[in-house]
Amino acid sequence: MALSAPSILPFNGAPRGLAILGATGSIGTQTLDVVRLFPSKFRVLALTAQHNAALLIAQAREFRPRCVVIGDETRAAEVRTALAGEDVEVLVGAEGMCEAATWPGVETVVAAVVGFAGLPSVLAALEAGKKIALANKETLVVAGVLVNDLLEKHGGTLVPIDSEHSAIFQCLVGEPQRTIEKLILTASGGPFRTRPAHTFDAISREEALDHPNWSMGAKITVDSATMMNKGLEVIEARWLFGAEATRIDVLVHPQSIIHSMVVFRDGSTKAQLGVPDMKVPIQYALSYPDRWPAPHERLDWAQLRRLDFEPPDTTRFPCLRLAYDALELGGTAPAILNAANEQAVASFLREEMRFVDIPRAVEAALDELADDRLPALDGLKQADAEARRFVQELNLRV
Ligand code: NAD
Ligand code: MG
Repeated sequence: MALSAPSILPFNGAPRGLAILGATGSIGTQTLDVVRLFPSKFRVLALTAQHNAALLIAQAREFRPRCVVIGDETRAAEVRTALAGEDVEVLVGAEGMCEAATWPGVETVVAAVVGFAGLPSVLAALEAGKKIALANKETLVVAGVLVNDLLEKHGGTLVPIDSEHSAIFQCLVGEPQRTIEKLILTASGGPFRTRPAHTFDAISREEALDHPNWSMGAKITVDSATMMNKGLEVIEARWLFGAEATRIDVLVHPQSIIHSMVVFRDGSTKAQLGVPDMKVPIQYALSYPDRWPAPHERLDWAQLRRLDFEPPDTTRFPCLRLAYDALELGGTAPAILNAANEQAVASFLREEMRFVDIPRAVEAALDELADDRLPALDGLKQADAEARRFVQELNLRV
């Protein structure tokens, strides 16, 4: 895809059909907050959730979609009973999500599932030429080439929700690709930015889940603490903006006010700033190329005394280096990196793996399994499964 922001048709006033995949999560619920602000602009047609049947039912009663999807059959019975009086089809699992993503009348798909599980439904939406508002960065990490091929082939559009990529996307509006020198992704540095290395062995689940600036789902919160999140975002930026890794820098900025920057070849830098609030990039992904008036919190410039910056420390946070390594290696490496990380983070959240062992597990999986040839989708799925198995069997000391 081009490095500049793609142009799409402006909003024409008719309600836009929305499918929200991962509707019960942090991004999903905030997407519905945005929909509540602009009820006449949207028609919610599909909502999906993995486990939280109660919230999915409540959302269905409020937004009256034509289709809901729940993770498995046991929960489907509960959803079917609760929504018996509604005109809604209740579908199940990964296949149901692909149907939801391509439901008749859906114009925009908000991809807000966490992890590799979000990939098939995004690919289905791309094959149907939908506009995708993408939060699910793991999809681009694993299958960036495939996603770009499908975008080209089927004429869909991808607009980022991730705050850093939204910032870059906003900075690129009206800027030709050839004028871009560098993309600078900012990173909060997470809860352990100043924590001494010798205490990392003792990091607990609770400490890792306590992010200083953002309230997010558990997996991405741990990724922020290890800085794997920034590593995944470097790979995400590579495929979203067509920028080589050497042109993507990471800069730690603890206040999370500058959401990212673009340096242009004439020496000028553009940045996008704001209070850390995901509703702003979510809304922009839905309103682009327009901006809609909204009551999201404004920055109080007079109170904003300082903005700090420092280089990332890849000794304490090796995940960031591992992500650059995986991007450089190419082939299955980013898929291995992602799957090993998902498995390691899940183990850490179950308190079966230590925080410091997350990067060790990812590095071991990359060393053992990565192959520089890029396979088709089936090969990527196989790489994902192998990496998960590998980390499960690693048997690192708890
Ligand atoms: P979350 O855990 O809060 O929500 C995840 C959603 O996906 C839930 O609705 C859940 O039911 C669904 N889900 C989980 N596993 C599933 C599976 N196996 N199959 C189908 N559905 C499944 O996560 P989140 O924080 O909202 O993050 C969602 C995505 O957005 C992630 O890729 C994350 O990296 C990205 N993102 C999140 C934020 C944020 O502020 N939360 C910011 C930027 C990017
Ligand atoms: Mg981000």
